Amino acid sequence: GTAPTSYQRVMLKISGEALMGDQGYGLHPPTVARIADEVESVHKLGVEVCMVIGGGNIFRGLQGSAQGMERTTADYMGMLATVMNALAMQSALEAKGIHTRVISAIRMDEVAEPYIRRRAVRHLEKKRVIIFAAGTGNPYFTTDTAATLRANEMNCEAIFKGTKVDGVYDKDPKKFPDAKRYENVTYDEVLQKHLGVMDASAIALARDNGLPIIVFSLDEPGGFRGILEGRGTSTQVHG
Ligand code: UDP
Repeated sequence: GTAPTSYQRVMLKISGEALMGDQGYGLHPPTVARIADEVESVHKLGVEVCMVIGGGNIFRGLQGSAQGMERTTADYMGMLATVMNALAMQSALEAKGIHTRVISAIRMDEVAEPYIRRRAVRHLEKKRVIIFAAGTGNPYFTTDTAATLRANEMNCEAIFKGTKVDGVYDKDPKKFPDAKRYENVTYDEVLQKHLGVMDASAIALARDNGLPIIVFSLDEPGGFRGILEGRGTSTQVHG
């Protein structure tokens, strides 16, 4: 049976790489459509959904700066990559009839709305899915931090971090068969043990505002809805 979810407003964070499928780079439309299905099944429950999508499938600032590019320029390129991913996801959601707004932290009014908090909240109240693009709008940050920042601003009850594995492990479960999954872990343990849930600034921002992070597998069809309804396996990061 399915328990009704107690969540009213959530943030879904996925990496850009979640959109590339088995390709080594870029966007794989069937994979984007599959993630749109995951969002649809949660949206159908009446849950208000915010999303942040990374840009690592297209460009990462650190990668650019390692190749001699100026760091801040490279970071802006990374932020622009997230806008492309956001537009692809918007297109996939709207193909399903789900009204979706892309809100960019860097102004580009022909392409996306600027971020105005009260307007964003209104979209959620009207059950529009929001995709926050261009990260925080600042270099030296990541989209994990952007997801945490926007989740706080939107009063989301939790961040759901969709990954390739069903939670946080003490070591890489794809390499070590004896890796142990945490059911619960504290923010401080994540930081001390370098558990790699999100970068340290994102974890600290979640900790300081008591925002739970739930790490789950996006590879399971229906997984996102299942986790919201208390089924499946995940790791909950909290205080
Ligand atoms: N980025 C940034 N500021 C932000 C968010 C992202 O400068 O607030 C840049 C940074 O260069 C990063 C790139 O955008 O490498 C892509 O984001 P991220 O690495 O978080 O993507 P993901 O790993 O989630 O795909």
